[in-house]
Amino acid sequence: MKWQGRRKSSNVQRGKSGGAPLMFGGGIGGIVILLIYFLLGGDPSSLPQQSSSTNYEQSQSSEEQAMLEDFLSVVLADNEDVWHEKFKEYDVEYTEPKMTLFNQTTQSGCGLAQSNMGPFYCPLDQIVYIDASFYNDLKNTFGAEGDFAFAYVLAHEIGHHVQNQLNILGQVQPLRQELPEAEYNKYSVAMELQADYFAGLFAYYIQEKGYLDQGDIEEAMNAAASIGDDRIQKMSGQEVNADSFTHGTSRQRKNAFDQGFNYHDLEHAMQFFDGLKYQPEFQYKR
Ligand SMILES: [Zn+2]
Repeated sequence: MKWQGRRKSSNVQRGKSGGAPLMFGGGIGGIVILLIYFLLGGDPSSLPQQSSSTNYEQSQSSEEQAMLEDFLSVVLADNEDVWHEKFKEYDVEYTEPKMTLFNQTTQSGCGLAQSNMGPFYCPLDQIVYIDASFYNDLKNTFGAEGDFAFAYVLAHEIGHHVQNQLNILGQVQPLRQELPEAEYNKYSVAMELQADYFAGLFAYYIQEKGYLDQGDIEEAMNAAASIGDDRIQKMSGQEVNADSFTHGTSRQRKNAFDQGFNYHDLEHAMQFFDGLKYQPEFQYKR
């Protein structure tokens, strides 16, 4: 991806590390945990344990960290441009999310953020949390290489913010309380695939602007496939069990990204809920 020398987002902040977990501290603790579980777009929520113990300081030089931060700041700025443009088609104001980069742990609006959770979006404070060590996990654990693989991960998390803005999240979330787990997992998969679609949509507009390098789309597709539920279950030595899928298979994730790239249409992105009992409504008109 051509990113050097381009605009960096001003919505980047650094997480303060440390602090005692206040997971069960308050009355909303339960909700918070559910939220974080739901939105662990991190995708690698079930990351094999050993990889997550590699910490930031050990795995990256400060030079690498600074470069990664610059890169993510440019990708975030690109996301802002794309989504402002897209929302304008519907006369809706897009509110920019913030991005918090942290080392190992930090306090999020949804509870304690830890590097082994992978990147995630917290709808309560509208912030994407990324521990930069995930870049190494992506490469070493999942075998997804290239800068655009990481751009895809951020774009996917921003996709959850877009779902929040479009109130798709607000319609789907209450179902968690109402449906049996295996049933609710289908909605979780639909949400995750839609976030992958939005990442594909993002890639389309970035290509239009001339910022993609040869091979970038393949990097993103490979990253999407590398964090499919079936693959992660196999990697962690579990049997592949479709009822427990929360993000979709490698094939589904790749397809969702591909569709977003080809069709880049918000209404079309509602297709992931087809065939499910409750259909969230897309409430905007062009
Ligand atoms: Zn996700």
